[in-house]
Amino acid sequence: MPELPEVETVRRTLQQLVVGKTVERVTVRLPRIVQHPDDIEIFAALLVGETIRSVERRGKFLRFIFDHYTLVSHLRMEGRYGVYRSDEPLEPHTHVVFHFTDGSELRYKDVRQFGTMHIFAKDQDLQEAPLRKLGLEPLDEAFTLKAMTDRLAKRTTKIKPLLLNQEYIVGIGNIYVDESLFRAGIHPEREANSLSASEWAKLHEAIVSTLRDAVAAGGSSIKSFVNGQGEIGMFQHQFNMYGRQGEPCPTCGQHIEKKVVAGRGTHYCPKCQPLKRKRSSGGKT
Ligand SMILES: [Zn+2]
Repeated sequence: MPELPEVETVRRTLQQLVVGKTVERVTVRLPRIVQHPDDIEIFAALLVGETIRSVERRGKFLRFIFDHYTLVSHLRMEGRYGVYRSDEPLEPHTHVVFHFTDGSELRYKDVRQFGTMHIFAKDQDLQEAPLRKLGLEPLDEAFTLKAMTDRLAKRTTKIKPLLLNQEYIVGIGNIYVDESLFRAGIHPEREANSLSASEWAKLHEAIVSTLRDAVAAGGSSIKSFVNGQGEIGMFQHQFNMYGRQGEPCPTCGQHIEKKVVAGRGTHYCPKCQPLKRKRSSGGKT
């Protein structure tokens, strides 16, 4: 599933490809993608005559800002956007097509069919599900160490599932949680309230730097993102931990281990990320 850096790269690519285009009509070929409004014909009619003013992001959701409406789109597992000429044949699994007045089309393909789209009146989207309950944006200035610890430091949950919970911090999924915990030297099964103040500081720095590095890597490869068919792909990063079980840790050489934590395959270095069992919740050490 794409996480914040991948969605951010898709956003930047779409920003270059579709801003300024005006919708002539919308074709919904698979109604289940549309979550709001309920009526597919209303969904399709709302955007006719509307121009895309910008493409933004909240967590892992793309927000297409039109004149009077916002289209909120989640790619989930396999969703893909592409920009095509209207005379190019539709590929299999193309579920929603935005036909533009200039003869081009934005097509949404999704083999797994888990993606979602919502249309709300402009700026209403942030007050409605699914965006309403989302937590802190880790690349915003508002994501300070204090903002993070205010929300997380007293929790008794294990740190990994807490970081995966989008109601606290958005955009980091299984891959970037493992990478961030490795950079911070924190075992994924530590209870949140057992982390010291310096560990919280390291974790905050690790989350921000891991995501910034990944966004920078994706941003530098935007050209390779759009393939010959106009499809916007996903950049695959090289990870220190993710998918490297059995390989030597890049810091200490110990074999990277993999175990299931909170139902998710979790990669960590048993030497760099020891499972301490401290009972203090003050975080003074
Ligand atoms: Zn190590």
